[in-house]
Amino acid sequence: MTKIGSVMTPVGRKAMLLGSGELGKEVALELQRYGVEVVACDKYAGAPAMQVAHRSRVFNMLDPEALRSAIEEERPDHIIPEVEAIATPELLKLEEKGFNVTPTARAAWLTMNREGIRRLAAEELGLPTSRYRFASGREEFDKAIEEIGLPCVVKPVMSSSGHGQSTIRRPEQIDAAWKEAQEGGRAGAGRVIVEGFVDFDYEITLLTVRSVSGTTYCEPIGHIQVDGDYRESWQPQPMSAKALERAREIAKKVTDALGGYGIFGVELFVKGDDVIFSEVSPRPHDTGMVTMISQDLSEFGLHARALLGLPVPSIRFYSPSASRAIVVEGDTDKVEFDNLEEVLAEEGVQMRIFGKPEIKGHRRMGVILATADTLDEARAKALRAYDKLKVNVLPR
Ligand code: AMP
Repeated sequence: MTKIGSVMTPVGRKAMLLGSGELGKEVALELQRYGVEVVACDKYAGAPAMQVAHRSRVFNMLDPEALRSAIEEERPDHIIPEVEAIATPELLKLEEKGFNVTPTARAAWLTMNREGIRRLAAEELGLPTSRYRFASGREEFDKAIEEIGLPCVVKPVMSSSGHGQSTIRRPEQIDAAWKEAQEGGRAGAGRVIVEGFVDFDYEITLLTVRSVSGTTYCEPIGHIQVDGDYRESWQPQPMSAKALERAREIAKKVTDALGGYGIFGVELFVKGDDVIFSEVSPRPHDTGMVTMISQDLSEFGLHARALLGLPVPSIRFYSPSASRAIVVEGDTDKVEFDNLEEVLAEEGVQMRIFGKPEIKGHRRMGVILATADTLDEARAKALRAYDKLKVNVLPR
């Protein structure tokens, strides 16, 4: 029988969040709702999830020593990776010693690097993907581009949110793409993936939950990315029955291969009835923030339920909904979100402000959510609210 004891007592449960951004913050809140002790970790103090956790720890999660000693001191019941930049080989060792990693240490390890998950999906599972080559130096890179052909998409194997990513359409863009990928990778200069450009009709995130109840799917989420970073998402993305069936088949195969309990963001490209696998995150997905308004249990609530070993019988979808990311540019530690009386004037509009302490360059600082009777109206409503938002970037 599954039980949760009193928080902060020997019978209580403790979760350690590795990554304390806006997605981690919502997971922390959902765990709090079950009376689970939350220790939020990240490389800087005052991160969003730390503001709603019982305690926080600041250390470099890419440093295996620092990661192991933090985990061994805390001895959490659940280790929950919320970002990719973690010394995941250390998680594999800790799991062997009996620690519980969400969904599994292998899933965190394989998805930390685009090469691991791409080879698993395409070469082991035989899922349809874009054509691809990996390259470590400039010579290999040029050869990879020749083999894949133009247009193609170049990404560091370790990167997210579009960092270091570019599309090459003409030969004169090759030098710039190489430079960009070398500067934008998480671990600095390094290996890249060159992918054939997929001329999709639309792309989706299929949130897939693995729990004691089996595998459950959320309604598909459509989204728009700018330079590899999400700006707008909506749910449900209209799809043909055939495409939806294929999307679920792919999601089932890849999440079964990764295993464990939790939510997965399966990213897919769709053209007609054809579905192509792009990536998977073994954790809540940024485009899935729309589920905070569209569903009974959001992707964060589902993640908490599943990883705690609780049932997820089926997912109640409320109504068509949309989200707009609030991306702010500047160099500041003081931002004001202004004109909120107008932003939130319409029914069915919500907003989240993440509480990030500063901006250097551009940063996602909040999200606007809207729900309506139709998809078009939900998207239009989110846009109306977003257009009314004024962001004041004040000097440091
Ligand atoms: P990723 O970080 O791999 O999810 O890529 C970010 C975004 O870039 C995707 O959501 C797509 O919009 C776009 N993209 C990535 N790979 C390709 C591709 N092979 N062909 C076309 N667009 C792509």
